[in-house]
Amino acid sequence: MPKNSSKLGTEARRVPLEVKRLVLHEAGYKCSNPCCRYPLTLDVHHLYYVCEGGSNLADNLLPLCPNCHTEHHNGNIPTESLRAWKMLLMALNEAFDRRSVDLLLTIDKLGYVEWITGDGVPTYAALVASDLISIERRYVDAGLQHFRNLFGVRITDKGSSFIEAWKKGDQRAAIGALPSLTEG
Ligand SMILES: [Zn+2]
Ligand SMILES: [Zn+2]
Repeated sequence: MPKNSSKLGTEARRVPLEVKRLVLHEAGYKCSNPCCRYPLTLDVHHLYYVCEGGSNLADNLLPLCPNCHTEHHNGNIPTESLRAWKMLLMALNEAFDRRSVDLLLTIDKLGYVEWITGDGVPTYAALVASDLISIERRYVDAGLQHFRNLFGVRITDKGSSFIEAWKKGDQRAAIGALPSLTEG
């Protein structure tokens, strides 16, 4: 049995439940790995291990699904990526609501323009304002001389480079793609 497994076990036991709830809320109850986003139970990882002076406070904890957690302890996800994900998660929470963050990842995953009706447009407002997503209006022939007003949602080049950097855990490149976070 690798020593990593015991580390995973002790980590889970030490953190008070209310702190776990806080960091899970911060991550939208999903794995912090933007390539994964698997819904979470109560698995949290210490960015700095307790034995190395790391704390059980929220800013030292990152929610990961059991799979990504094991992948990290097996050396397949570098520590730098986890630290970048934590930073970006906090930055994204400041800039957007959790729903917007998921919408951004979903549209990126779909890889095509999603057509929505007008009442769906406000959902994307924060992402459009940040130029991560663009929306265009289109009249679509619905037959019988009927035209529907639809809105095409697509990811911008800036949005793509942000997500690419986020997934890679490249904090500097990701933050550079978010103008509102570089000012001030
Ligand atoms: Zn861990
Ligand atoms: Zn995961």
